[in-house]
Amino acid sequence: MPFLRNISPRVAAAVLTFALIGGCSSTSGNDATGQGGDIQGEALAECLSGQTIPAGSTLNIATTVAPITSIVANVAGGLAQITGIVPEGTNSHTFEPSPSVAATLVDTDVIFANGLILEEPTKELAATNLPKSAALCELGTAVLPVDDYIYDFSFPKAGGKPNPHLWTDPKLAIKYVALIRDVLVKMDPSNAAAYTSNAAAYTVKLNELDAAITTASATLPAEDRKLLTYHDAYAYFAADYGWQILGAIQPSDFAEPTAREVGDLITQVKKSKVKAIFGSEVFPSAVLAQIGRETGVTYVDVLRDDDLLGKPGDANHSFLGLMQFDYITMIEALGGDATALRNLNITDVAPDNAKYPQ
Ligand SMILES: [Zn+2]
Repeated sequence: MPFLRNISPRVAAAVLTFALIGGCSSTSGNDATGQGGDIQGEALAECLSGQTIPAGSTLNIATTVAPITSIVANVAGGLAQITGIVPEGTNSHTFEPSPSVAATLVDTDVIFANGLILEEPTKELAATNLPKSAALCELGTAVLPVDDYIYDFSFPKAGGKPNPHLWTDPKLAIKYVALIRDVLVKMDPSNAAAYTSNAAAYTVKLNELDAAITTASATLPAEDRKLLTYHDAYAYFAADYGWQILGAIQPSDFAEPTAREVGDLITQVKKSKVKAIFGSEVFPSAVLAQIGRETGVTYVDVLRDDDLLGKPGDANHSFLGLMQFDYITMIEALGGDATALRNLNITDVAPDNAKYPQ
């Protein structure tokens, strides 16, 4: 991986880490032994630890980031009360819930979070405010073996926080759906049939998304399936769909890179054959604009990892809408044909009446 070879030791170490682990599949089977199995097994047990609610009452669900809220809403199908915690458009990696979130948590039966150390302040607030009968379900931690965690550019192993962006990989989102279904069926068995059929219908949609991404990706020559992004949100996607992550510009403390690092990045972008570089709508970056300007490489700054399109109630304000938008954006900017993604029907399988804080 010659790209970024000359930049700072901090980033270079991350590149090396990625080179060592980047080839592993993020969807291999569960490892029930060793440390990894313990963390994953404990997280799975915690997801399924909530008490069954009385028949005829409504399940109160809290969720963290908006993509998870949308996925849960599709499985719950209007049969549960769903309240998001992380406002859309904020930095979910540094988000700290206000004390008012405690009022939501005291009435919550289950929280669906992403895990992989994304939501520690929310977990702390939950520890003192969730009822004893409730479950805190960290979906990513429960579905992904520790051996498959990716540490890379903005999430170096030395920092101790793995890249948490599992949901941008539809193959992993499908695993989230299955676990959400199992939790809802256990806690609210009166509605088990509906949860099961919603999850099945939504999984069909996610499989269609998966197939469309594969088809559209294949219109790009392998040497063009390369991503240089500002926010480091596509590592698991890349591993599962045959893309290469050249780098991510955002440092692990979510500050801007230093002037020296920017200069080195400009040199490396000029040497590489990358056709476009991608910024994030949640993280507007003068640095990425500068790199685009000085290298003459197309600069696209509209990717999103946890801020849904439009407003709550809009047809594209959904996880499916978000994924369709991001992968059309990437593939077309790199010169590919995203018709398969454009033709996708992204209608949710159930009405989404979750509360999305803005
Ligand atoms: Zn993110």
